[in-house]
Amino acid sequence: MRIITRTEAAVEPNHWQDELARAFRRSDELLEFLRLDPQQLACDHQPDFPMLVPRPYAEQMRKADPNDPLLLQVLPLLQERDPVEGYTLDPLDETSSNAQPGIIHKYHGRVLLMLASGCAVNCRYCFRRHFPYADNRIARRQWQQTLDYLRQRPIISEAILSGGDPLMLDDEHLSDILDELEGIAHLRRLRIHSRLPVVIPQRLTSTLAQRLEQSRLQTTLVLHINHANELSEAHRSGLKQWRDAGMTLLNQSVLLKRVNDEPNTLIELSERLFEFGVLPYYLHAFDAVAGAAHFDTQEHLAQQLHQQMQQRLPGYLVPKLVREIAGRKSKTLINLDSGQSGNYNGM
Ligand code: SF4
Repeated sequence: MRIITRTEAAVEPNHWQDELARAFRRSDELLEFLRLDPQQLACDHQPDFPMLVPRPYAEQMRKADPNDPLLLQVLPLLQERDPVEGYTLDPLDETSSNAQPGIIHKYHGRVLLMLASGCAVNCRYCFRRHFPYADNRIARRQWQQTLDYLRQRPIISEAILSGGDPLMLDDEHLSDILDELEGIAHLRRLRIHSRLPVVIPQRLTSTLAQRLEQSRLQTTLVLHINHANELSEAHRSGLKQWRDAGMTLLNQSVLLKRVNDEPNTLIELSERLFEFGVLPYYLHAFDAVAGAAHFDTQEHLAQQLHQQMQQRLPGYLVPKLVREIAGRKSKTLINLDSGQSGNYNGM
């Protein structure tokens, strides 16, 4: 196994950061790029949750199609401002599991570390769109407190890097964090939850893949892909490189009205994921977050869709259909056969 040096890490070009810098931040510019007439869409040009769309992601959208499933996920609409009963700022009540700034500890044996306060894309349906990131980013000086929290709890065997998006940190910073986590003997696994490589494939750097390959922690990358059109040829080599470095690649999706709430779309997504070496892991029922009610799908429809996936796909390509319910110590598996929900001890 070859050990990479800091010097090598520093010379790898940061194309992904260049892409981030030139992302679309104004809806009129994005619509012009897509050859769409702004009159066709009731956009919010000054949303509280700003628009952020990297160009590689925009390039995957169909031109002149106001119903493109990728566009629908990222374009701020005026209807986000309409209050809808039952849709709240913190639908999963994460603030009550906020053990200390930057840590969410809900589940047995696993702890979630919020390393970054932002993402490379602002998904309109995000259940954390109102999360108080400013109070939760782990500043370098607070990092020791975070490590102490982990060190003092031998029951924790897995650290989950989340955010925001943890891959917003550069490779060198992530390598430093890995050094510290590897020093905690009872930690066995590392999980990285990220959508960044989906919207900017260059984020799958060889430098980070090599660093993770050297780690004693068994590492899983959980991607967030909702539609087969989000995967391009640019992802193929990057994902292969990470897989070859020993990473397990999984995907979680959210069921979204008009984006993927149709059996052929979900089946195509599972098949395309597998073609790229990624296993479908979860299909999340929508979380009732304020501003995103127009994405919600009814649970019985979710069950029917999932049933059709079961009928038409091999079992390993059928993600678990789950819902997070505030206060529960595990995800809730939406039971297909009985139409009932049972706890599922996973994350
Ligand atoms: S990348 Fe993930 S955390 Fe960030 S806005 Fe999208 S869904 Fe939310």
